[in-house]
Amino acid sequence: MREHDYDLYVIGAGSGGVRAARASAALGARVAIAEQGQLGGTCVNAGCVPKKLFVYGSRFAEDCEDAGNFGWRVETPDFDWPTLRDNKTREIRRLNGIYRDMLEDAGVAIQVDHAAVAAPHTLRVGARSVTARHILVATGSRPRVPAFPGNDLVITSDDTFHLADFPERVLILGGGYIAVEFAGIFAGLGATTRLAYRGELPLRGFDEGVRRFVLDEMRRKHVDVRLNARIAAVEEKPGGLLCRFDNDDSLEVDAVLAATGRAPASAGIGLPAVGVRLAANGAVVVDDDYRTSVPHIFAIGDVIDRVALTPVAIAEGACVAERLFGDGQRLVDYAAVPTAIFCQPNIGSVGPTEEAARKRYSRLRVYESRFRPLKHTVSGRDERSLMKLLVDGDTDRVVAAHMCGAEAGEIIQGVAVAINAGATKADFDATIGIHPTAAEEFVTMREAVR
Ligand code: NDP
Repeated sequence: MREHDYDLYVIGAGSGGVRAARASAALGARVAIAEQGQLGGTCVNAGCVPKKLFVYGSRFAEDCEDAGNFGWRVETPDFDWPTLRDNKTREIRRLNGIYRDMLEDAGVAIQVDHAAVAAPHTLRVGARSVTARHILVATGSRPRVPAFPGNDLVITSDDTFHLADFPERVLILGGGYIAVEFAGIFAGLGATTRLAYRGELPLRGFDEGVRRFVLDEMRRKHVDVRLNARIAAVEEKPGGLLCRFDNDDSLEVDAVLAATGRAPASAGIGLPAVGVRLAANGAVVVDDDYRTSVPHIFAIGDVIDRVALTPVAIAEGACVAERLFGDGQRLVDYAAVPTAIFCQPNIGSVGPTEEAARKRYSRLRVYESRFRPLKHTVSGRDERSLMKLLVDGDTDRVVAAHMCGAEAGEIIQGVAVAINAGATKADFDATIGIHPTAAEEFVTMREAVR
């Protein structure tokens, strides 16, 4: 008789957990996965996918405006929120089914229930008890709302996907990924949109030139960005919510979206009781092999609070599967993780910021191009693009690329391959451009600006 019911028990069927489960099963392991919500986790249900559909939806008002100078007469566009919301939900339900099929086809047992570690090798899953040789915690993260009077009146990104009514006036708190993405979505869909950020410049951690550029572009698109603005209280009043700031400013809105970060979802699954160490912010502490302080319990994805991005969680999940059941060769390279923010226009970024690169490379060369995209020379829209390449002057290697402009996410993915492969500026220069595109700027920037 086998010692345990499963070789691997995965808690959480988000991007990372699903990849670990499928890859482990493909390597011959007996695998089960528990999910208390919908299959696919944050990315599929309340993150990347529905958000991107909303971004697409929010572009049409501008597209209709832009069409005029291209000869199209478009009647005044009229937006219907329930249509977008419900069509998005239909697509998400389809994806939930695909996730179920993928897991079942791989031979993974799906247990739709809350799972918690009850003893080192035992899990309580709903009313039943199962045992596993290895356990993988892939429970992700949840929106975090700061403490202030009336914070129970705010919504988080989770709620935006199911709002009964579209808010005509929105205040967004925060200046990170979710704040700037939703600022673009709400403004594009026609809401009066304000964003209040506690610092000097949103998107801390991104290249400063890009941050300044994005701030200008957001303001151009009628997002009222308030800097050094700290919320003091939110109160209900007839017809809306009254928001007070600590500098005595106030404003009235229909909804307040707190996009003030996410916290690792490590509570309520029995981890400290079996000896799994948590950091002060709740992140599960792991070593380079994603092993927790209990050697047969592993953790990946947002719950370890390293790089909270879907493709990183997927890479970590594949890595754990190979360590446990394969040849264990796979490593996750965190050095140059490309990322995109689907604000409008998009940001795409790979490698260090100019500020960080300057400290690391003594002879840094900076190439930069700012231009009006061809489309807008006719549409008349006052939207610009920014592209930057950072080059280590000692080796000629391109170490980073940053862009703010249409389809930056799509463009930077290919550039990231070149950078990860060690391409030099000479390699970029020797590559023939594709004309006329914005992307060709990356192979035609000849003079360093700094
Ligand atoms: P971020 O960490 O990106 O941003 C949080 C923002 O909230 C920061 O501007 C931060 O300010 C501010 N903030 C934090 N605490 C407070 C507070 N107490 N009061 C006021 N402001 C506060 O988190 P998000 O929630 O936007 O997103 C979470 C993560 O999800 C991202 O970091 C990213 O990894 C991932 N994500 C990725 C996306 C993508 O790939 N396109 C899209 C959405 C999310 P400060 O800078 O001063 O700390």
